[in-house]
Amino acid sequence: MFVLEKTTDQFQELRSQVLGQVLEPHEPGFAQASQGWSLGHKHQPKAVLVAKTTADIVAAVQFAQVHGLAIAVQATGHGFVRAADDALLINLAGLTKVQVNPASQTATVQAGASWAQVLKAASPYGLTGLLGDTPSVGAVGYTLGGGMGWFGRKYGLGCDALLEAQVVTMDGQLRTVSAEHQAELFWGLKGGAGGLAIVTEMTIKLYLESAVTAAQFVFPLEYARQAMEGYREWLKRVPDELSSRLMFAHGPDVPFLPPFLRNQTALIIQAVYAGPETEAAKTLEALSFIPGSIAQIINRIRPAELGMFFGAPPAPSESVGQAEQLSEFSDEVIELALAFAKSQPAPFYMFELRQLGGAVANISHEVTAFAHRNAAFLLNYHALVFSPEVRAKSQLSVSAFSKLFAPVASGEIMPNFLNGDEGEARDHAAYPGLKSMRLAMLKARFDPENRLRYARTPGSRSGA
Ligand SMILES: Cc1cc2nc3c(=O)[nH]c(=O)nc-3n(C[C@H](O)[C@H](O)[C@H](O)COP(=O)(O)OP(=O)(O)OC[C@H]3O[C@@H](n4cnc5c(N)ncnc54)[C@H](O)[C@@H]3O)c2cc1C
Repeated sequence: MFVLEKTTDQFQELRSQVLGQVLEPHEPGFAQASQGWSLGHKHQPKAVLVAKTTADIVAAVQFAQVHGLAIAVQATGHGFVRAADDALLINLAGLTKVQVNPASQTATVQAGASWAQVLKAASPYGLTGLLGDTPSVGAVGYTLGGGMGWFGRKYGLGCDALLEAQVVTMDGQLRTVSAEHQAELFWGLKGGAGGLAIVTEMTIKLYLESAVTAAQFVFPLEYARQAMEGYREWLKRVPDELSSRLMFAHGPDVPFLPPFLRNQTALIIQAVYAGPETEAAKTLEALSFIPGSIAQIINRIRPAELGMFFGAPPAPSESVGQAEQLSEFSDEVIELALAFAKSQPAPFYMFELRQLGGAVANISHEVTAFAHRNAAFLLNYHALVFSPEVRAKSQLSVSAFSKLFAPVASGEIMPNFLNGDEGEARDHAAYPGLKSMRLAMLKARFDPENRLRYARTPGSRSGA
């Protein structure tokens, strides 16, 4: 029997109310509009609205309210939470306007803009935002989850730079939220993730940093122990202007990778000093005395060039991974990291130990919904998947990672470093104690029907 798939009457109504496209599963462009950066995850929504304006978002929320639909939000798709099946997916990727005000050192950033786009606009004024390690990540999504990046130890989290947001709440109202207006909701947007309202644009502080010193020191695996011990000693004396991480990386034998990663594991220390070049040189000098390095690269670059300097992933990919927080960088951590790097079978992986603290820890714990200011280090493992066989090996590695580091992990984790749906216990680990209760109360007030249920905010998982 021949079944004619056709556009439903239900979504015709929405089409007539918006400037953007409304795509249903049988229509060309639907798969592309539903797909985000993480190729291993797929949404199968009832329809996707590719939003063109703020009014489109308001119309979509009011439409979802009338028709009893759940709503999912996707900007870049770097932070897939749960498959938004049966929902109306609002794709924000086209809303990328960034307006910089150099006099007030602020930027107003639309919901779909990436950090690369924010930095492109801010850079001509010698300004930067508090980006993370990957410029293609969405600035709003990153900020909603906290946002720990290269300037975190000097200035704080992405969410600490949030000044104001325009949001659509689930009653279909467009609201301005700041410390003065809807202060409790503003608190929740600072690290409480995307389950409270849809942010259409945010205004953030920018920081005068026209150039930073970026450094990479590469060690072969046989020198990894000395490198880890030397790095740990060095960290005891570094100022908050310095953010850094130590990374084990291993790649397949492909020409686009540097020789030290082709079919082998290297340890790389990466650092950014946000301050004068002479001070940077003094701070970084000690790293050059750690024995065994095969490459030392130190450049003065614009913050907008950090992603390229450190080799941030240039294109969407499938990956699997897991992250954990640590309260200390102990001898046991060194032994476990070495054992993991030497034994795990994934052919293309990176495994970082990132120093936290500094300004992140010094800002009052009460002023944001973010719950992890006391974490000292982040362990973050990612394996790239490029075949079913590699997927199986990489998943085994994630299990091994989880088991091996359990004795030293704090059990808590920043929401931005959860990978997809890791289950309810891990959701709780993102918002322990009172933060969870306070966010759940906000959620009940601003999204009582739990429409925004594909988010990490406490109270979003239940009620589907
Ligand atoms: C390669 C890579 C590197 C990363 N590096 C860092 C890092 O250095 N530091 C760090 O802190 N994090 C980092 N992250 C995590 C990243 O910040 C989060 O995954 C973040 O949620 C991504 O936001 P997005 O808009 O890009 O992704 P999306 O998948 O589009 O959004 C993720 C979720 O955020 C919510 N959301 C997004 N936009 C809105 C909005 N406008 N209104 C309401 N809710 C919204 C939704 O719940 C959505 O499901 C990294 C992720 C990847 C994949």
